[in-house]
Amino acid sequence: MREPALPLKCLWTLLFALGLGLILLLLFATLEPRPLDGEALNYFPAAMLEQGRRFAREARLAATLKALASLGALAVLCFHPAGARLLTWLEARGRGRWPRQVAWVAVGVGAMAAVVELPFAYYLGHAHERAYGLTRQSAWAWLGDHLLGAAVGLVFSALLWLALYALIRRSPRRWWAGASLVMAGYSLLLAALYPVLLLPLFHQVRPVDDPQVLAMIHSLAERAGVRVEKVAELRVGDESSRLNAMVAGLGPTKQVLLYDTLLRELSPAEVEAVLAHELSHAVHADLFRGWALQAALNAAAMWLAAWMLRAMRGVSPLGLPAAHAPRGLALLMLFLSLCDIAGTPAQAALSRRAEVRADKYALELTQNPRALVQSFQKLARANPGDVAPPPLVEVLSHSHPSIIRRIRAAEGR
Ligand SMILES: [Zn+2]
Repeated sequence: MREPALPLKCLWTLLFALGLGLILLLLFATLEPRPLDGEALNYFPAAMLEQGRRFAREARLAATLKALASLGALAVLCFHPAGARLLTWLEARGRGRWPRQVAWVAVGVGAMAAVVELPFAYYLGHAHERAYGLTRQSAWAWLGDHLLGAAVGLVFSALLWLALYALIRRSPRRWWAGASLVMAGYSLLLAALYPVLLLPLFHQVRPVDDPQVLAMIHSLAERAGVRVEKVAELRVGDESSRLNAMVAGLGPTKQVLLYDTLLRELSPAEVEAVLAHELSHAVHADLFRGWALQAALNAAAMWLAAWMLRAMRGVSPLGLPAAHAPRGLALLMLFLSLCDIAGTPAQAALSRRAEVRADKYALELTQNPRALVQSFQKLARANPGDVAPPPLVEVLSHSHPSIIRRIRAAEGR
């Protein structure tokens, strides 16, 4: 066993500083007291703005604690003697066969992370939503869905880790290239299967059959000069009062998904505005662009991770005998999580650009700024959040421009 070399120490320090720095910066910027946005008061009552901001602050605090708890747990596993002993014990369950060792460590660490995150996930996914009247689901039903999701995730990720370790064993230096391709392919497959395989596990998905909505889609698609995309309705109304729409799937599974709540709450002109917005995501292949950026960031992270894993050989307390030792999986998990957090601002920026373009596209297609603004107002009322968040928070983490910015753009200001 030895101490880590200086470059290795620098890399870990830098990553922790970036990841934790970003998490804490976002927390403090969100919690900082500010007066209500004067412009937002023209569109929303003060009480609603106050409530939305409170909701955003509570969610940010819980998300911060969740991230700190899971990063902390992984850091203890990787860098504390007790954690290292636990990982070595898990590895030993595999009785010398590497696939079994990898499966034990992957499922063990994954399950531990799920347990550590459970209270925060419960708060964010259920208790917090319930306190604001956003969910009608019972706590047990939520737990059932959550456990099903976690179990599916654990199985998928164990398979992924097995593929990854097969690559690391083949080439301790160049595995990152193959692994980046595998990861990119995996997320592409997951994105393609999401609306047809994963989503139906939790919600009913069915084709939209409302003739008025169908006529609207045909007319929009004609004006946009694109082929009619599949449009499906997602039934969430029994459980949730949130309004949402999205483009999901890739290639043959690509479709516009509209929440049933959205179809119920929005006027036809507002539904048209939302559809036109979603059509832009489909036309400009925004899902694919997001995937490509994610794949590039992943490749960079894996390249660094390959070097890190080799440099960690023999370093205490984990004392990896080789780069492919299965207990090193926890190191990879921690390393890649930190890289993922550090890459958030780039992903958020790309997503916001696509959202700005989609709003513009919706305006051009419908020529109805009023309906677009009204849809924003209804979305903001149904999905509480900060209508005018601190600019720093928006730039570093938001996938959408703030509601007030979107309203301003729709009104040509
Ligand atoms: Zn969008």
